[in-house]
Amino acid sequence: MKQIVIASNNAGKIREIAAILAPFGVEPVPQSQFNVPEAEEPYPTFVENALTKARNAARHTGMAALADDSGICVEALGGAPGVLSARYGGEPKSDERNNQKLVAALASEKNRRAYYYAALVLVRHENDPQPLIAEGVWHGEVALSARGAGGFGYDPYFFLPAQGLTAAELAPELKNKISHRALALQRLALLLGEQPL
Ligand code: IMP
Repeated sequence: MKQIVIASNNAGKIREIAAILAPFGVEPVPQSQFNVPEAEEPYPTFVENALTKARNAARHTGMAALADDSGICVEALGGAPGVLSARYGGEPKSDERNNQKLVAALASEKNRRAYYYAALVLVRHENDPQPLIAEGVWHGEVALSARGAGGFGYDPYFFLPAQGLTAAELAPELKNKISHRALALQRLALLLGEQPL
């Protein structure tokens, strides 16, 4: 198996990534195993932030690296919180404060359409001029009260009209099939099929 470093230490994400990469003979290893320092994420786009994280991991390990960056974008808020989703409610980052701020911002808003977005960027080496880039979008709306205990982040408030459930009420296996990250991973798999590592 060829190893690839993942610029994340989130065990759930790494499991999802491992399942998608296995058929390509690629094994993801979290960057914590190589003592990679966290990269800054100062950019206004998800893709740039994912690229900077992937490049940072490749620089410190000399290996191919994969990073993701994701967030929730709300139509009535002009796309906010967007790339600032993790820290929308201020420092230190807190899902509860993020959700309280989002619900307050939409309390008297009729249009509560929103989507989760994920960008995945894979670099073969630090200065790869042609990173593999895959994105995924998952549409829903922001509920004003929380439902469900699964998932993380904004999931208890992310309502899916097609399922009649919030993302936190979905079975994890279903979320891992239809989410923004799942879609981006499926697209990355297609790219890897065309351009093997
Ligand atoms: P990161 O890409 O892991 O840094 O995630 C950015 C932030 O976006 C997270 O802290 C969450 O607040 C939000 N987010 C991204 N994906 C999801 C998801 O699948 N469910 C809930 N929140 C998410």
